[in-house]
Amino acid sequence: VKQIYAFDEGNAGMRDLLGGKGAGLAEMTRAGLPVPEGFTITTAACRAYFTAGGQWPEGLLDALDEAVSQLEERTGLKLGDPDRPLLVSVRSGAVFSMPGMMDTILNLGLNDDTVLGLARRTGQDRFAWDCYRRFIQMYGDVVLGVDHYAFEQIIDEQKAARGVRLDTELSAEDWKAVVEKYKQLVEKETKRPFPQNPREQLLGAVRAVFSSWNNQRAVVYRKIHGIPEDLGTAVNIQRMVFGNLGDDSGTGVVFTRNPATGEAKLYGEFLLNAQGEDVVAGIRTPSPIAQLEETMPEVYRQLLDVARKLERHYRDVQDIEFTVERGRLFLLQTRAAKRTAQAAVKAAVDLAKEGIIDRMEAIRRVDPDSLTQLLHRRIDEAADLDRLAKGLPASPGAASGRVVFDADEAVRRANEGEAVILVRSETTPEDIHGIVASQGVLTSRGGMTSHAAVVARGMGKACVCGCESVRIDFRKREFIVEDGRTIREGDVITIDGGTGQVYLGAAPLVDPALSPEFQELLAWGDEVRKLSVLANADNPEDAAKAREFGAQGIGLCRTEHMFLGPDRVSIVQRMILAEDEEERGRALGELLPLQRQDFVGILRAMAGLPVTVRLLDPPLHEFLPNLEELMVEVTQLRERGDDPARLRERERLLRKVRVLHEANPMLGHRGCRLGITFPEVYRVQVRALYEAAAELAAEGVSVKPEVMIPLVGHHRELEILRAQVIEEAERVLQEKGVELPIKVGTMIEVPRAALTAGEIAAQADFFSFGTNDLTQMTFGFSRDDAEGKFLHAYVQGGILDADPFVVLDEPGVGRLIRWAVQEGRMANSELKVGICGEHGGDPRSITFCHKVGLDYVSCSPYRVPVARLAAARAAL
Ligand code: ADP
Ligand code: MG
Ligand code: MG
Repeated sequence: VKQIYAFDEGNAGMRDLLGGKGAGLAEMTRAGLPVPEGFTITTAACRAYFTAGGQWPEGLLDALDEAVSQLEERTGLKLGDPDRPLLVSVRSGAVFSMPGMMDTILNLGLNDDTVLGLARRTGQDRFAWDCYRRFIQMYGDVVLGVDHYAFEQIIDEQKAARGVRLDTELSAEDWKAVVEKYKQLVEKETKRPFPQNPREQLLGAVRAVFSSWNNQRAVVYRKIHGIPEDLGTAVNIQRMVFGNLGDDSGTGVVFTRNPATGEAKLYGEFLLNAQGEDVVAGIRTPSPIAQLEETMPEVYRQLLDVARKLERHYRDVQDIEFTVERGRLFLLQTRAAKRTAQAAVKAAVDLAKEGIIDRMEAIRRVDPDSLTQLLHRRIDEAADLDRLAKGLPASPGAASGRVVFDADEAVRRANEGEAVILVRSETTPEDIHGIVASQGVLTSRGGMTSHAAVVARGMGKACVCGCESVRIDFRKREFIVEDGRTIREGDVITIDGGTGQVYLGAAPLVDPALSPEFQELLAWGDEVRKLSVLANADNPEDAAKAREFGAQGIGLCRTEHMFLGPDRVSIVQRMILAEDEEERGRALGELLPLQRQDFVGILRAMAGLPVTVRLLDPPLHEFLPNLEELMVEVTQLRERGDDPARLRERERLLRKVRVLHEANPMLGHRGCRLGITFPEVYRVQVRALYEAAAELAAEGVSVKPEVMIPLVGHHRELEILRAQVIEEAERVLQEKGVELPIKVGTMIEVPRAALTAGEIAAQADFFSFGTNDLTQMTFGFSRDDAEGKFLHAYVQGGILDADPFVVLDEPGVGRLIRWAVQEGRMANSELKVGICGEHGGDPRSITFCHKVGLDYVSCSPYRVPVARLAAARAAL
């Protein structure tokens, strides 16, 4: 089998074999773009290398020698030839992009002889020695395992000896001296001189790139992003081009559109007189790409052209690495740009409008889960904010947390439940676990394409980078801002990755709004989706928010909060404690007008749309004080003996709490069981709802109330309660002289209800799957206990693929749903069927709901846009 492909032999379709980088380089080469010559060792060869226990697979070395001679022929250069030295980069390139996670070596081929040749050919002594020392440093670190810190130290010493601060102030002689010390360092650490033979260098580098697949940060990255472990990496070997040959040279990264906002404008960064990693490493803060237009207008024009071509070619936003060598543009990498959710939405919509993709493709391009980022709250700019500094807006979102200065500390504090902001001068792939643990990242150096920025965007975390006015002192664990204030580890700050602002303390946040592109994308999706999207909302504010996000009604209006509120608890307690019907009636009479007002507000906010009101569900003792606290209080009152009236009252309450106490409240006296035993409670709720509806209807507001009975398990329960609801509702409507259709349905949340759905459907206008309870009862997992105690172990241990309270369990709970939908519809062809558990906002569960043919999903207001998009994607 062929183990090596020259760039002009491959193409974009060969990603599995050539890796993302190799396939991209091949595709660009084929498209006639200026790519330095090179070839790719396949991922299959890498896998074979691992299978053989780290031995060269058969034929690879011959193929490599052959590929090198071909490269030499094409470039007119020769590895190890002092007169015409060929220098190459050896670059890792996995199938899925893992920015900065694996190792790359530049300037390979330099040795004591070729460095002189390079200097002669370019006429630049300093440049040649700078390249050589970079090579020894990278090779020493990556291949020979010499700590890069030791190299840095040698440079620092050289600078100190010369009395200069910047690398750029060091001369050719300085670099020559540094190279000498580097070689001594390598020899001391490895007990062997630095390898002078370029072929040996090359083989060492290829081995190191293969092995970098298994370095710790790559393993962590794959785990986080769910990338399989056994793919291996390709290795790209490519002629070096030099961005560090002077001020007509440089290196940079551009995005064809802004990766943070999606704005359709070339976006990126550029460093004059610099090589490769200088941009991404965040060592010097680069200039915005727009400046290239001034310094090298011709190159800029070419870059624009290339960007447009690549975007059309790949039909997606590209992230392009380039180098300019003495005024000539070279492309070194292209890949689909990592982007924020905001940018993903805007770019998808714009690409569709530009005719590069179609609308359905635009819908496919946006991951519904990522939209939650856009539905996050932002900093309230109108509030009184204490500004500390401003950096680059690298990844939008607001985040508050305690300042930490290293990744391990971030993880430690996060494990203790603290929100933290990781503050570093720059991040490296070694910080990955700390970024995961943080709410956001603040760096003092590096641009929008620095490691911190790229990684944070990929994870949807807030990031402010290149915040140069922040001076970090790691030893003291503090940073100082421009006005001289000191922020210490543990202090709370807020960063806004959308604006680059950094504030002291936890800044107040405001609700998000949907961008025009977001609305447009959702509108395209609305045209194809089959599921309606409703919201779970219990008050007018949530109802209004849900409506703004496009909810088509309320699928679940819980009424328990109507019994809480400070003005209500005492009435509710009187109702529960009542000794007789009359006393209970009086208390309920007081609740009636309050609840009517609640319903007026909700129905008005949802004018024209259905509002499904669930009658009281929780057990009554939830409205009474806690048993243990009450016992303590009573004991204290008895001991003090100074308030006999209060003592009597509390004792009475305690007796009642004891009576109502349940061993398994979730399986106890709740839901429709309350309705059966205390019909007055449901009656008052129904009255309040229909009085509100009648009042609004009389005003000319269109109202569509529906009554939902919780926890039904037997059709007789529903039969009895349905009759009561209809009787009371009709009575109210008659009193008010208003006509409205009366709809009564039920939750399906007890397995028996699902199993006997046919009988129940005969009594119902609609079913709404209460998948929280249904999951709880189907698994027999108490939701309140399972999450903290054993569920985590089940998911970690692979017993369950996912938390069934988050992602609907299709084989079990889903099977009950399928059955109930089928039986229910068979018995009642008019039956409307939906879901109102947490799962109603989860994209994977929504796909299932679409498959089984539900009519609607209902979810929290902030999930409504997510559900709309997920429902559309399910229908594509
Ligand atoms: P990563 O996957 O970490 O981006 P790359 O292999 O892309 O690693 O290379 C790291 C840096 O070196 C990039 O800035 C890249 O543009 C630069 N580089 C790689 N190969 C060459 C080359 N042949 N000539 C000049 N610069 C190169
Ligand atoms: Mg790269
Ligand atoms: Mg329930």
